Amino acid sequence: MEFGWNPEEQAHRTSIRALLAETLPPNWEEVSVHGPGSDAQTAYSKQFCALLAERGLLIPHWPAAHGGEDAPVWHQFILGEEMWAAGEPRGAQYMNVNWVGPVLMRFGSPAQLEKHLPPVRRGESIWCQGFSEPSAGSDLAALRTTATPVEGGYRVSGAKIWTSYAGKADTCFLLARIPAGAGGASGKAAIVILLTDMRSEGIQVKPIPSLIGEGDIHEVFFDEVFVPAADRLGAEGQAWEIINFALQNERVGIARYEFSARTLDRAVARLKAEKRWDDPVIRDRAARALMLCEAARMLVYRVVDGKARDLPPDAFASVARWAVVQADNGVNDFMTEFLPDGLLGADPVQQAHHQRAIAAGIASGAAEIQLNLIARRWLGLPGEPARL
Ligand SMILES: Cc1cc2nc3c(=O)[nH]c(=O)nc-3n(C[C@H](O)[C@H](O)[C@H](O)COP(=O)(O)OP(=O)(O)OC[C@H]3O[C@@H](n4cnc5c(N)ncnc54)[C@H](O)[C@@H]3O)c2cc1C
Repeated sequence: MEFGWNPEEQAHRTSIRALLAETLPPNWEEVSVHGPGSDAQTAYSKQFCALLAERGLLIPHWPAAHGGEDAPVWHQFILGEEMWAAGEPRGAQYMNVNWVGPVLMRFGSPAQLEKHLPPVRRGESIWCQGFSEPSAGSDLAALRTTATPVEGGYRVSGAKIWTSYAGKADTCFLLARIPAGAGGASGKAAIVILLTDMRSEGIQVKPIPSLIGEGDIHEVFFDEVFVPAADRLGAEGQAWEIINFALQNERVGIARYEFSARTLDRAVARLKAEKRWDDPVIRDRAARALMLCEAARMLVYRVVDGKARDLPPDAFASVARWAVVQADNGVNDFMTEFLPDGLLGADPVQQAHHQRAIAAGIASGAAEIQLNLIARRWLGLPGEPARL
């Protein structure tokens, strides 16, 4: 079997690297340590995404009918690998191109497409994902935020937590439930998705200070917020199907192993410069970390290959995500043990990797839940996995 890239794919990769080398500011490494939710990176990501849009590199994989170029899945994926390896200069906007746009194209009304896609295509809009709540993380179906039907729309009340980029977001992809007393169905069927304007009256956003970067995670409170019915995505009762589709796109969208592998290369270069590379323990541990990165790469490629061939998503996406978390942690553990000063500021790239690695097994659904999914969907073991 041939795992190499064809000349066209190689040329695509080379041109993206050249663009990054030409465009990223000299202090980019220091900027990226502040995190994708920080003021500095948000401002830069808008400028950078506008440039990508101008050069046809923001949404080339989208259908031409929606402003893309019908580019092959692998082209988009190579772009993602290079962006992640460079510390993801698209910032929060990677979500828009990976899953928000595709979900809207599949399930949105013509009016919703007209409202939301143009700013995403221009690289201007920031979205946040209002899923998790204080008592509904892994068990997402337990969410309690209510959307009570009123004339012309819904009144939303409740609280979300860990919402990335909420302080900067224009729109929230918000999950809420129609209360049983207000005519709602029960369980998952009562959930609705509301594309909520973050400037609406009654929304309060509180940043949660954290190690993973400035302005990244938040609590968001909704107090009788009016959301017009026209902003509900899909029909009442259809939300769970849409959420499933969104999470499948979200989970394979991030080529984090590329960032881990290149951060490991950088750590090895430093160990060589410090004349520590002859230590067999260090070499052995570096080789193990590299193996985790390469295993993750191959498993992710298998998922992307399935997508490129239009195969239905299967449990392999969970295997790949588990492997990506192991790669993140393997490289982070290696550097924590042998180059601990890097985490404390001696190397901004290592520090940025550390910040992402410590959250890797929790964000986008806890890694343990992936094991549940693998057990049930692949190994055929009994039991109901908590999250999708
Ligand atoms: C950096 C970061 C960014 C995030 N961004 C967002 C965002 O933008 N939007 C959003 O909605 N959410 C976001 N989240 C929240 C994230 O999706 C949740 O943290 C995650 O789903 C886990 O939920 P929880 O925190 O409630 O933990 P819990 O579900 O309470 O889990 C706690 C622990 O118990 C384990 N566990 C729980 N249930 C089971 C089970 N059935 N079997 C085995 N183990 C189990 C979990 O694996 C975990 O280790 C973010 C989280 C982080 C860390």
